[in-house]
Amino acid sequence: MVPLLVRRALLAAALGSAGRRRIPRHHGNRPPPGAAPLSPGPVPPRPAAPARRSSGAGGQEEAEGPSRATAMLRHLLLKLRATGPVTVAEYMREALTNPGQGYYTRRGGIGESGDFVTSPEISQVFGELIGIWYISEWIAMGKPKAFQLVELGPGRGTLTDDILRVFNQLASLLSKCDVSIHLVEVSPKLSEIQALTLTGGKAQSNPEDKSAYMKGISKTGIPIFWYRDIQDVPPGYSFYLAHEFFDALPIHKFQRTEKGWREVLVDIDPEVPDQLRFVLSPSSTPATENFIQPEETRDHVEVCPEAGVIIQRLACRIEKDGGAALVADYGHDGTKTDTFRGFQNHKLHDVLKAPGTADLTADVDFSYLRKMTQGRTATLGPIKQREFLKNMGIDFRLQVLLQNSRDTATQEQLLRSYDMLMNPKEMGDRFNFFALLPHHRLADPDKKHKPESKSPIAPVAGFGELLLK
Ligand code: SAH
Repeated sequence: MVPLLVRRALLAAALGSAGRRRIPRHHGNRPPPGAAPLSPGPVPPRPAAPARRSSGAGGQEEAEGPSRATAMLRHLLLKLRATGPVTVAEYMREALTNPGQGYYTRRGGIGESGDFVTSPEISQVFGELIGIWYISEWIAMGKPKAFQLVELGPGRGTLTDDILRVFNQLASLLSKCDVSIHLVEVSPKLSEIQALTLTGGKAQSNPEDKSAYMKGISKTGIPIFWYRDIQDVPPGYSFYLAHEFFDALPIHKFQRTEKGWREVLVDIDPEVPDQLRFVLSPSSTPATENFIQPEETRDHVEVCPEAGVIIQRLACRIEKDGGAALVADYGHDGTKTDTFRGFQNHKLHDVLKAPGTADLTADVDFSYLRKMTQGRTATLGPIKQREFLKNMGIDFRLQVLLQNSRDTATQEQLLRSYDMLMNPKEMGDRFNFFALLPHHRLADPDKKHKPESKSPIAPVAGFGELLLK
């Protein structure tokens, strides 16, 4: 196999060559179920979307805002009065995923008309290239007879929908492969939207099965299952996907003081009624003992143990059953300090104000994720989104779409969404791609036994330069 050529061939087969195709997408008018997903048609112009995580107070927010904020705040005030200060992780968990009032549980406002926009919502090309990544890995790993695509925190289901369109376009390649989709989602509201996006509304709750709470069939005939926890997903050869998932998980925050490390906690402000404030733990806590490394040089550190546990699970599963994981998120490699922030109405928002009405997020520490794989898998990255997408052939794809577009408005829209994804000042440098792969995927077994072997190991798409021939 000549992998780079194969990758180009995949790109052409899945996405169409110049003069042959175009993929329409505009909000609220995605290709209907059963429609030829890659049929020629105009790419409709879409208004420029704000870079992700610009939480907007939409109509629903205005209608519900004050009373809902009060309900969540009241709940937290009662809790704090009863138990004393809570960790930032506990506060974040409540604010985002409390079953009654959490931001994700209640709102799920992702997309132009919602609270914040993510890469898959900006351009379908993003999901298509990720679909190609999985197919390319599936080929490199010897085309196993079955695989599960497991997405963590699928939002509106847009990314998986775009990936499934690529799978459908490559149906002849995948004809002997048993593919199933497994979505891990805690928000009932978002899972409903995902079901609508992916199945056209043909999903049912699944009370007889204790693990999957909902199931359905995709518009292209692939079974889909919903779970609340990665542990509920059945074992098996799996490709995992986590886009803007880890940054939404609760973090602990620590501050170095003259007396040693202290944990940052959330408490009631005694000076201002019904207002929250940060305080430092009076002494060390179990978290300061467990999460701060002796060699730490920073003065402020954020740790997301839940992300560590999930990565550990993914690494164990990949080591045991095979597959790969692709993680894309805001992040750093163990260098940043205070990244906890809230967004509302396209602006930075005080993280302690009106909990439950704003998106709370913290940059992902990829060095921590790498450490938590415990060497069970190899890791690649993090590399910047613009490098990953370039390596995956986004420029080639853009040229095809531009050549096929019928009007300047469409071309401008294409260029605008490309800029959002690729410009270093937009999402190009802020987002990173990181992968978990079985060790054997990166080490040539032939080399060990036959050092003279000339067969090169297939490079992993996206993490190396794409040379189009
Ligand atoms: N991947 C999507 C959505 C990102 S927003 C996109 O890029 O557009 C974060 C997603 O993770 C939402 O779907 C949210 O409901 C989900 N989520 C947050 N915490 C979760 C948890 N602990 N378990 C499962 N899903 C969670």
